[in-house]
Amino acid sequence: MTGNASLDPCHEPQTQALVLDEARARILSAVAPVGETERVALADACQRVLAEVVTARADVPAHTNSAMDGYALRAADAATPGTRLRPVGESFAGHPFAGTVGAGECVRIMTGAVLPDGADSVVMQERATVHEDGVAFDKAPAEGDNVRPAGEDIARGATVLAPGRWLTPADIGLLASVGAGEVSVHRRLRVALFSTGDELQPVGQALGPGDIHDSNRYTLRALLDGLGVIVHDLGIVRDTLEALEDAFARAAGCDALITSGGVSVGEADFVLDALRRRGDVGFWKVAMKPGKPLAFGRLDAALFFGLPGNPVSAMVTFMQLVRPALIRLAGAEPAPPLRVPLPLAAPVRKAPGRAEFQRARLLPGANGMAVEPLGHQGSGVLRSMSLADCFIVLDADCGDLDAGAVVSVEPFAQPVGA
Ligand code: AMP
Ligand code: MG
Repeated sequence: MTGNASLDPCHEPQTQALVLDEARARILSAVAPVGETERVALADACQRVLAEVVTARADVPAHTNSAMDGYALRAADAATPGTRLRPVGESFAGHPFAGTVGAGECVRIMTGAVLPDGADSVVMQERATVHEDGVAFDKAPAEGDNVRPAGEDIARGATVLAPGRWLTPADIGLLASVGAGEVSVHRRLRVALFSTGDELQPVGQALGPGDIHDSNRYTLRALLDGLGVIVHDLGIVRDTLEALEDAFARAAGCDALITSGGVSVGEADFVLDALRRRGDVGFWKVAMKPGKPLAFGRLDAALFFGLPGNPVSAMVTFMQLVRPALIRLAGAEPAPPLRVPLPLAAPVRKAPGRAEFQRARLLPGANGMAVEPLGHQGSGVLRSMSLADCFIVLDADCGDLDAGAVVSVEPFAQPVGA
């Protein structure tokens, strides 16, 4: 199971909200990676976390080869442009030339084909003219021109990838290139998920008076799919202590439980009460907008994240706090948020007080990139989240800003592992 560290539980209501960085640090300090590993075929290894050192059993590329379609030759033989060299054979990818290139000779060669013995360079075919008595080159090559040496990408014996690596599509190709057909990875996480709220109806169900569709479960599920976890969807849970405790019991055996809604201090907010009865509450308020009511704790061996019900708040808190925790739980080290300074294409409105994540989109600007804040920033407004491709991250004490002011921008496409 998981080896999560102590949570420093606080059973009393927390009076001061935590700032985001502290909340993230406290969550991460309570998370240790799942220990179990398994061997999987390379084709199934993308988005898994490597649990072994992979070393190259051979050079990549395995042979010194041509980077161009053209002619392999000895550079010194073509030092005088126009000199004609005698073609003595061909080297195609997968079909090397068996002989040796001697003085005054050349070999027709294709990209990726093995450089024949004796040759030290390749002249691209655009610089060659074929005559009846030989091939002439209009440019003198230097030794090594258009040649890719064996082991240029990876030398035999070198570490290709280290444990804790979150495997990307490029990593899968890299592993294939060194002939690693199977790799050892951490087991996939099992994450339980439910929505709370008497007003919620599943998609496909007619809405009664005051009802809304449960969108958070779909958003969160899609976000979890992006992390390659196994999701246990526990559906919609009604706003009673009994229903919540029953749902907590159904999450047994999972590595984490994520809920949305019911974590404020309203009359129908029972998530914290249920967590206090069945597990430990780490903290439950974070000074960020959107997202303020948020619970973190533990339910037996599982990490517990009680996200706010507002659809944008649920997404933002997932991206800022849950995602890094799940990445560490899965065995990788979460990359710190990637933030870039960019000028505002339009003014921003903000009251000093809480740090804010405003939805925005990247635009080409006069001197490079700029960032445009998107209309309605209400925490229930998913539309602007759907249009956005980044957040503008504003410090707590920041107020209104004019167009042209430089702000910190966090693109949604973030690296997963460090
Ligand atoms: P709560 O945190 O339960 O007070 O909910 C805050 C707001 O988010 C309310 O307007 C809820 O109706 C809405 N909400 C809660 N859960 C969901 C959900 N799963 N999908 C969409 N909206 C939700
Ligand atoms: Mg609710």
